[in-house]
Amino acid sequence: MNRRYPTKVVRVDNFDCIVIGAGLAGLTAARYLQSAGIETLVIESSDRPGGRVKSDLIDGFTLDHGFQVINPKYPNIRNSGVMDSLQFTPIVHGLIPFRLVETITKPGDLMAPFLRGVFLTEPSRVSPRVRVEIYKSFLQGRPGLVDGGASAFSSALAYPVTDIHYGETVHRIEDQNVITDHGSYQARFIMIATDPVTATQLTPEVGVVRMHSSTTWYHSTDNQIAGADRFAVSKSGSLINSIAISDVVESYAPAGKQLFSSTSLLPISESEVRRELARIWKGDTSTWEFVARYEIKKSLPEHPLGKSLYSTVQIKDALYVAGDHRGYPSQQGAMESGKRAARSIIERVHPRR
Ligand SMILES: Cc1cc2nc3c(=O)[nH]c(=O)nc-3n(C[C@H](O)[C@H](O)[C@H](O)COP(=O)(O)OP(=O)(O)OC[C@H]3O[C@@H](n4cnc5c(N)ncnc54)[C@H](O)[C@@H]3O)c2cc1C
Repeated sequence: MNRRYPTKVVRVDNFDCIVIGAGLAGLTAARYLQSAGIETLVIESSDRPGGRVKSDLIDGFTLDHGFQVINPKYPNIRNSGVMDSLQFTPIVHGLIPFRLVETITKPGDLMAPFLRGVFLTEPSRVSPRVRVEIYKSFLQGRPGLVDGGASAFSSALAYPVTDIHYGETVHRIEDQNVITDHGSYQARFIMIATDPVTATQLTPEVGVVRMHSSTTWYHSTDNQIAGADRFAVSKSGSLINSIAISDVVESYAPAGKQLFSSTSLLPISESEVRRELARIWKGDTSTWEFVARYEIKKSLPEHPLGKSLYSTVQIKDALYVAGDHRGYPSQQGAMESGKRAARSIIERVHPRR
């Protein structure tokens, strides 16, 4: 049954475009559109920008929603200029950007566990072109963390964008009308920049996109473990990676505490995580404090073998779609799709620009 939502019509005469979602794709699109003079309203269901790239501040700990590194050399991040306003520290040093917990017997064993943490699935199930693209970007970009966490990056990206409605959820699109829990809006162009599951609910033309899920665990200890700023990856354990993020950027934890971020793909118990941490970091973790856990059901869209690097962003005459599922599953893929969708709209509004 179709649920009914308020039908109050909000006057939006000045908006040429409505962007649904203030994740990296939506924010990038809005930045391009607004700087080209296209009146754009962004509607975001949560209380802040960034989508999957966000953090909480709890008891002095900065907790990103998932272990998320920022790559300053991704073309769209570099061109945005946002890194100029942020304190950035790389986590990647040298040619091998991680330490493998187990001893390897063949060279293929080295890369697979690392890439599993990047794609949140077996790398053999990901298109080879995407694998190459992402690995190259790791080596060239020396990704890392920013002071203030992932949210600091998203806030900097959102900073120049005007007209963002936070806490407003879009429920339907009917022709050029966007119906939310607050009312109804009209615009010449509509861009859906949500996760792919929501995008398909808003318009079936997006098609079904399978999402991988992941859980990020945070633990802290007063008994500092040495060398834990090196990203540890595991090929056989139930935690696929772990790192003391406060050893990379101190402000992630209160003074005297070391904050570990660890990722699992399958549901596991906290006691199992603790056992795995003891194996990875070769120490007693029984006194470690459990800080938080983020289970992210819609972490990354699947990018199966045979799918091209970028998919079309215009799905109907005036309906566009952006997001990492239209590019490759990454910050760069999301931002590039937002840029492509915005440029197509700009070209139609100002054909001679
Ligand atoms: C754990 C984890 C680790 C990652 N690590 C990395 C990494 O290290 N490097 C990298 O490059 N990428 C990484 N990624 C991937 C990257 O975060 C995403 O690809 C990218 O952020 C997706 O951006 P997006 O704008 O496409 O979608 P989203 O971030 O999902 O943004 C969509 C926005 O739409 C809003 N929205 C949804 N429904 C509605 C609605 N009905 N009405 C209004 N608003 C709505 C949401 O609240 C959200 O803000 C990681 C992802 C995860 C989950």
